[in-house]
Amino acid sequence: MTRIDTFKHKGLRQQLCDELRRKGIVDEAVLRAMNEVPRHWFIDSALDAFAYQDRALKIGCDQTISHPSTVAMQSQLLSVQPGMKVLEIGTGSGYQTAILCKMGAKVFSIERQKGLFDKTRTLLSQLGFRAHCFLGDGYRGLTEVDYGPYDRIIVTCGAREIPAALMGQLKEGGIMVIPLDDDEGQEMLRITKNGPSQSEWKVEKFGAYSFVPMLDGRQMR
Ligand code: SAH
Repeated sequence: MTRIDTFKHKGLRQQLCDELRRKGIVDEAVLRAMNEVPRHWFIDSALDAFAYQDRALKIGCDQTISHPSTVAMQSQLLSVQPGMKVLEIGTGSGYQTAILCKMGAKVFSIERQKGLFDKTRTLLSQLGFRAHCFLGDGYRGLTEVDYGPYDRIIVTCGAREIPAALMGQLKEGGIMVIPLDDDEGQEMLRITKNGPSQSEWKVEKFGAYSFVPMLDGRQMR
């Protein structure tokens, strides 16, 4: 499959990265990955003109590809180093997955919708991103196959609670970045697991976000 990445796309991507810098992204590895991975490859070609604007876009199955600034912020909060094992919940378009691969992480990604899972797994492999994709319920993490524990966990849908199963699959000293829903809306949390018990988790808050909801097994189609 041929995917085109024109000078225009590259120029717009560079401008987007400048905008991300102005919005507070300082991690050079994140900026480099976002400058290198063509976001327009992960959306419908009809939306090509909007690919490098800082906005979320529809990807089918009632889901959206996150804002570039959200992908950048979550990736920055995650402090990814090459070789780390990263578990991602909510593969969606695969764009965040590709950014993490580009940063040198070994990515394991779970999607609950079969349509998106099939489409994105194929796309990532055609584009040469070597992520391991799974169909399942991210609240449970990866149980059938044991690649854990993970250095990092990133959740890209709004959770109602911190999923205990995921915290169990996170390494000690590891970091989880997760948008958490409460009655007032969603807030981005970075949780550092300094020890097994909840009292040892350091929880930091990074402002309001708006992700599609994280649905559990009972709500799966
Ligand atoms: N990072 C993705 C975000 C896609 S939107 C991107 O930028 O394209 C969030 C995704 O999470 C959707 O594809 C949705 O189907 C998926 N999702 C929701 N609940 C889930 C669950 N319990 N387990 C796994 N994936 C889930």
